[in-house]
Amino acid sequence: MARQPISDSLKRQVLTEAGYRCAVPTCRGILALDLHHIVEVQEDGKNTLSNLIALCPTCHALYTRGTISKDAIYAYKATLVSLSAAFDREAVDNLLFLGISSPRRNLIVSGDGVLKFSSLIAAGYADYQQLANNASLIVTYTLGLTPKGAVLLNAWRSGDRSSLANIIGSEASE
Ligand SMILES: [Zn+2]
Repeated sequence: MARQPISDSLKRQVLTEAGYRCAVPTCRGILALDLHHIVEVQEDGKNTLSNLIALCPTCHALYTRGTISKDAIYAYKATLVSLSAAFDREAVDNLLFLGISSPRRNLIVSGDGVLKFSSLIAAGYADYQQLANNASLIVTYTLGLTPKGAVLLNAWRSGDRSSLANIIGSEASE
């Protein structure tokens, strides 16, 4: 089957869905992103938003070698579809950031900092707690993932389709 060129507008949609980053949550590289067919062109995979995923060259090579499984690619895609529908790019980055920066919910921020995470907090994926007053006049808060947020992030990062299906619904199991 001949490979059809991917239109610029479709390319933009796929990249926007991925936040202009590699779709592998443990990578999120920004350079030289390549659009990969989830169902290969030889297997009649089409140039559609649902069949394309943005991968950096390193992750693309890991996938070609089988280090990243096809199931994981489906899981990464399904997560991006759900997250990009619910959140803007900053919130998706913040979710990953909290997993790295605040695994023990020990990130300390000001009120302005809490606001940056408002969409994740409203969705129940992160929460905050005011710190007991100290000598400084600035009120501070600890911020971190809720158990629900941690479950989502762990399932996303592991690329485990079955646990993702429980969290984000049928997208992951299709
Ligand atoms: Zn990558």
